[in-house]
Amino acid sequence: MEHEEAVTGDFCDRYLLGQLSEAEREEFEAHFLQCPACAEELRTSAAFIEAWRAVFRERLRWRRWIGPLVLWWWRLEDWWRGKR
Ligand SMILES: [Zn+2]
Repeated sequence: MEHEEAVTGDFCDRYLLGQLSEAEREEFEAHFLQCPACAEELRTSAAFIEAWRAVFRERLRWRRWIGPLVLWWWRLEDWWRGKR
């Protein structure tokens, strides 16, 4: 595979997202192992995707807590109002 082809075909992102066919993946792997530019882009994109995943995970964790927390708060408010 030529470098040009790897760039125009968006092989780096598709490789990380698992969107390449078996043959394409093997071809791209053979290419980036000897192409510093593609190896570098792969490294940067991988870090980006990893960071994005961490944010997403964090958000999921929040969502799991925020529901019960709000319910608890409402109940506390009702109780407080009933007291006065
Ligand atoms: Zn390349």
